[in-house]
Order: sequence, then structure tokens, then C-alpha cells
Amino acid sequence: MAKRDYYEVLGVDKNASDDDIKKAYKKLAIQYHPDRNPGDKQAEEKFKEAAEAYSVLSDKEKRARYDQFGPEGVDGAGGGFSGGGFSMDDIFSMFGDIFGGHGGFGGFSGFGGSSYGGRQAQHVYRGSDLRVKVKMNLQEIAKGTEKKLKVKKYVCCPDCNGTGAEKGSSSETCSECKGSGYVVRTRQSMFGMMQTQTACPKCGGEGKIIKNKCRKCGGEGVVYGEEIITAKIPAGATSEYQLTMSGKGNAAKHNGVPGDLYIQIVEEEDKNLVRDGNDLVYNLMISVPTAVLGGQVDIPTVTGKVRMTIDPGTQPGKVMRLRGKGLPSINGYGTGDLLVRITIYVPETLSREEKAAFEKMETSDNFHPSESTRQNFIRKFKNLFE
Ligand SMILES: [Zn+2]
Ligand SMILES: [Zn+2]
Repeated sequence: MAKRDYYEVLGVDKNASDDDIKKAYKKLAIQYHPDRNPGDKQAEEKFKEAAEAYSVLSDKEKRARYDQFGPEGVDGAGGGFSGGGFSMDDIFSMFGDIFGGHGGFGGFSGFGGSSYGGRQAQHVYRGSDLRVKVKMNLQEIAKGTEKKLKVKKYVCCPDCNGTGAEKGSSSETCSECKGSGYVVRTRQSMFGMMQTQTACPKCGGEGKIIKNKCRKCGGEGVVYGEEIITAKIPAGATSEYQLTMSGKGNAAKHNGVPGDLYIQIVEEEDKNLVRDGNDLVYNLMISVPTAVLGGQVDIPTVTGKVRMTIDPGTQPGKVMRLRGKGLPSINGYGTGDLLVRITIYVPETLSREEKAAFEKMETSDNFHPSESTRQNFIRKFKNLFE
């Protein structure tokens, strides 16, 4: 299913401020909130669609990538909203704060009298996002590659499996909230008197209290460690490209929702080839005799050497194009070319015989351009700057 443009979804234009985006989302979220539209599948879809758009446009980096690469930039290869779309629970736990509730969707329970779909308002911890840089050479960029990365980060505590409770013990149900994670308060709001749920102050909204804390993690459920992560980087990646691996960031306290891992590409300089978008440029230096007489030369490409013919009478500055020998574009449309730019090496030292030979050539008309050749050259040179 083709996705609608996120700006269109929120009904804002491309230059909308963060505040405009937040307001637009809030409006839609109120309009399509499930408590207001019980059993309405279409409203639920709209509610999810708006949340997805907001999750990208409210994040400065995700928004920049979306602007530059479109949907590919935020949920392309291997990342983003794994499997497409959020679950309702994701939305509540991610954006609850926008409505002033704590953790859950407190402020809205007033509409339907109960929380959405019997959902528990327990607090869920979120791990923070991580960012790593990965070096890639041109050969890897040409084919795409799989990189095994050793990422230092918070991982789930192996001793308590993330629960935070010492082995053999378990957490107890919070006596204050009876395990629900929230307490109900009545307050005056812009919608009138409303019963709202707020996070339980005793358990912090978790609904559980850990009596015997795990000794390894001190009850946090996470420890600092490392994980080997395999990142699939698509062919044609550039240094502007960023791969998002959702859920591969820092693990969250008490088996909460882990953060995301962002992988940024760093291009390694190649000793022969210079990248220009999807094209590659090779500066080829040929000898005076090759330029004059023609010959065969080997050109390095990202997939090995290619033999190329130099015509007799080749001028310096000539550019030859090897079609399709550049880099593939990241979106899969076409491949760049390899441009071979020719320069001629003029010898700096000569033997007595060679010098004599050149002196003889100097007197020959063949070694001096005709007027039309010179004009041609000047015209060509001018074109370069137009
Ligand atoms: Zn532990
Ligand atoms: Zn509690």
C-alpha cells in the first residue's frame, strides 16, 4: 500500500515549524482518538497514520532524512517501523506526553470512562537511541555489504533476564495501585471535570515493586555490555545515508522498549577513483608516445581492471566515459559511469638522443596546431565554464 506523504497526513506544509506539527498532530489525535470512535476501524487507521507521520516529522533527524530521501530514508532497508505501522500501545507509550498525561494516555480516559481497550497504563521504559559510524570502501558501496558491528551498549541483564529481581525471587505487586501502575485522580481540565489516571507514585507506574534487587544490575534490568549486530548496507550508500535499525539501540530498564540504532556511512578514500554522485572519476596519465600513437591502457574500476583503447592523436583533457562502470544509485534506479580524464605526462628528463629527436620534431608542421584546431580547442575550453 502506497503511503501518504507525512506532511499531507498532518495537513501542514513542508516548512511547518515543530510547533505547527505538534499542534496538527494533537488535533488529529483528538479527532481520531479510539475513545471517541469506539469500534471505528477507519478512525483507528487515521489515528495510527497520524502517529507515524508525527513520529518522523517531530524528530529533527528523521524529518531531514524524510525530506531528502522520502519514505526510504526513514523506513527503508532494515529499519523504521518494522513491518509498517505502529500498534496502539506503541502510540500510547511514545506520544502520551503530548497530551499532558504521564506515561499512558491519562488525559483521555475521560472520554470513554475507561482506558482504551482495557489497556494497562503501566509505565514502559524506553531505551535511548545509539549512533555508530561504519567505514565503507568503494567496492563495498558498489555491491552493498553486510557489516558485523560490535556495538557497546546497554543490554538486557543476563542474570535476571531484564526483570531486575534477584534469581529465585520475583517482583511483588504494588500495594498502592494494586499492580495497575496508575492511580485515578479527578481534576478540572479544558474538557470539564475529568477523571484522570496518573502514574502510581510508589512504583513509578510499573505496577511492581522489586524487593530483592538483582546483584548484577542493581535492579535496573540492564547492564553495560556489547552486542554483535549485522547491518545490511545497501549498494550505492552515501555519507548522507543513514540506516535505522529499530530496537537495536540501548536496552530499556525492566524489559522495556529498546532504542534504535542509527548507522552512518563513512566513505573511505580510494587511491584511484574519486566519487562524484553515482559517477566515478579516474585521472589517467598517458605517455607522450601513447597520446601520439595510440595504445591500450588498463583502467581500475570498482569491479576490477578494464582495458581501454587510446586513439592515436588523443588530446589532454579528453574525457572518456565507461558506461555503467560507476556506482548504483541507492534507490535502485540505474548505475553511474566511470569517467576517464586524460592527462599527458611530459618527460622531465631526456637523453641526448631523445632531446635531438624532439628538436627535430619542433621544426615539423605536424607538431603545431592549425588555426582551426586552435579555435576548436578554445571553444571547447570555453564550454567547460558555461
Ligand atoms: Zn539483573
Ligand atoms: Zn504502584
